[in-house]
Amino acid sequence: MGLLEGKTALVFGLANKNSIAWGVTQAFHREGATLGVSYAGEILKRRVDPLAESVGCDFVEECDVSKDEDIAAVVEKAAERFGKIDILVHSIGFANRDELKGPFYNTSREGFHLAMDISVYSFVALARAFQPLMNPGGAMLTMTYHGSTKVIPNYNVMGVAKAALEASTRYLASDLGPQGVRVNAISAGPIRTLAAAGVGGFKSLYKLFAEMSPMRENVTIEDVANTAVFLGSNLSARTTGEVLYVDSGYSIMGVPNVSEK
Ligand code: NAD
Repeated sequence: MGLLEGKTALVFGLANKNSIAWGVTQAFHREGATLGVSYAGEILKRRVDPLAESVGCDFVEECDVSKDEDIAAVVEKAAERFGKIDILVHSIGFANRDELKGPFYNTSREGFHLAMDISVYSFVALARAFQPLMNPGGAMLTMTYHGSTKVIPNYNVMGVAKAALEASTRYLASDLGPQGVRVNAISAGPIRTLAAAGVGGFKSLYKLFAEMSPMRENVTIEDVANTAVFLGSNLSARTTGEVLYVDSGYSIMGVPNVSEK
């Protein structure tokens, strides 16, 4: 029996087959969950539709998370289709390319607001909108990165956004704990996705990661997805407000392993 048998999950943030959200969708399907997926806009539809179809998912909803009316519409459709849901996955982030290179102090006011709105506030907005639909024993998940606590050159405003996202995870966990809903974040190592491609110097960072991490290996969307299964399932019944690293151990290192040089 699958670990998510009898559970209904909604996954936000599917763009293409490289998306972390796609890894999560596939793993949830493998574990027996009933699925719904959401994507940002019309332009992604032709990529998202066939992916959803391949896992037998016919709840595929467009939702621009910067628009309250879009969120409200998905909530209404989800309530109509599923009644209650058990797992909500927020796998969404955005900052303008211009903000993801050079000195952090060059971050524009507008760019700062945009990154915080799409990458952080959207999780709060989704949590608020969906909490009436959440079954006790349910779980919400978001995706973060180590740039929240350590300086990663070029990650800039996204690092600040991830710090706010992780703090939001804790506040939401406190709010929703009494109704039996857990809220956690997964901090993934660098993965080649659309979002990651926007970060200046990503290629070098990706290579360095494998060299420096204790496990000497990069992280895949499957690795992140399997942790999402754990955090969505009853196996993690008493874990909430946490940031769980899936990073081959990279974040424990102080300096690269020089003995191999
Ligand atoms: P991705 O580009 O596949 O996913 C990002 C998603 O955000 C896309 O589906 C995009 O359409 C969506 N999005 C952007 N603006 C939106 C809006 N206004 N409304 C709705 N959706 C919107 O890349 P990914 O790497 O899978 O990113 C998913 C999450 O994982 C992000 O929060 C990212 O910061 C995080 N993350 C990624 C990495 C990495 O190295 N790839 C590492 C750690 C954390």
